[in-house]
Amino acid sequence: MKESLLTEFKNRFGTEPTFYASAGRINLIGEHTDYNGGFVFPGAIDKVIMTAIAPNGSDNVRVYSVDIDEYAEFGLNEEDAPEQPWARYIFGVCRETLKRGGTVKGFDAVFAGNVPLGAGLSSSAALESCFAYALNDLFNENTIDKFELAKIGQSTEHNYCGVNCGIMDQFASVMGQKGKLMRLDCRSMEFEYFPFDPENYELVLVDSRVKHELADSPYNKRRASCERVAKRLGLETLRDATMPMLKAIRSDITAEDYFRAKFVIEEKDRVLAVCEALNAGDYETVGRKMYETHAGLSDDYEVSCEELDFLNDVARECGVTGSRIMGGGFGGCTINLVRKDLRDKFTATATARFLERYGHEPKIYPVVISDGARKA
Ligand code: ADP
Ligand code: MG
Repeated sequence: MKESLLTEFKNRFGTEPTFYASAGRINLIGEHTDYNGGFVFPGAIDKVIMTAIAPNGSDNVRVYSVDIDEYAEFGLNEEDAPEQPWARYIFGVCRETLKRGGTVKGFDAVFAGNVPLGAGLSSSAALESCFAYALNDLFNENTIDKFELAKIGQSTEHNYCGVNCGIMDQFASVMGQKGKLMRLDCRSMEFEYFPFDPENYELVLVDSRVKHELADSPYNKRRASCERVAKRLGLETLRDATMPMLKAIRSDITAEDYFRAKFVIEEKDRVLAVCEALNAGDYETVGRKMYETHAGLSDDYEVSCEELDFLNDVARECGVTGSRIMGGGFGGCTINLVRKDLRDKFTATATARFLERYGHEPKIYPVVISDGARKA
């Protein structure tokens, strides 16, 4: 990727660039916990966006997207926002850096990536983090704190791309380290690294390539359930709720609210159990917790769908150690913890059986936990 970016950059701009990369991410466990003040447990992966970039001495940004084969040019003032959606991520990162008192000057850039777009691996966060990191290094002597770089990406999504996302994706993309996952406390924003470097297992994502658009907003409804139960318990969020507390009010709340809250409370405990298991190198327990999360998301939180339940069943039948929906639900990927000697059998079986049942093949992405934003 680096070689082809260099050739492309030289042909277009004729100078010597510096290279930066930032990664996509997975979340091992901790789903629908962020807005409940709980924990998420992401890591950066070996799929990246990379840019070749150099200051150009002007007030303008000139940037070429290799993958989309489009060129964009924009100024750094608020009214200069570019038309192309992909360029708005870069414009947003420039604006958000400036808003925070950082320095951004004109630059030339060429970029490309191998993070699959829209598959739930957060290619957009990889793109934002890559440029936020580059601007910090090129123009700010790396004085902007890394967590702040993640916030620059998040604010870019909010203010320039119309996506009201949490901090997890950008956080993982910026802070990720090879062989480590991070437990992020979504209430205090404190985080801690845990080892994830299994010798005998691999992470494999299976992308169903389906996305069910539902009539009402299932996300908002679930959020409202959680808020109602927290309020009933006299808590700000479900973070401090326990199962005995929930059981004590069971007859005062709807069955639906009860099961939504049950999932959130159990999921928080599962994240903590997985952290403990990883410290002990116990990947079998990690896998069991992943299956429990899937069951909770499917039965209690009701955000699964037929295709994802099918993939989960196939994983179990193939002897996969752990498998669950990754992301909000209603489609997208499953994340699977697979023993290396089972990997080929599992991916071949999942592909064939899914094709037979649903008429198209899922996409398979093996991923390795890797470094986040960096000079490349
Ligand atoms: P994801 O779940 O992958 O983050 P999004 O819809 O949030 O999906 O972000 C995808 C968008 O990010 C693309 O439509 C494009 O505008 C931008 N993008 C991501 N990767 C690339 C790339 N390699 N080249 C150009 N634009 C990209
Ligand atoms: Mg995105």
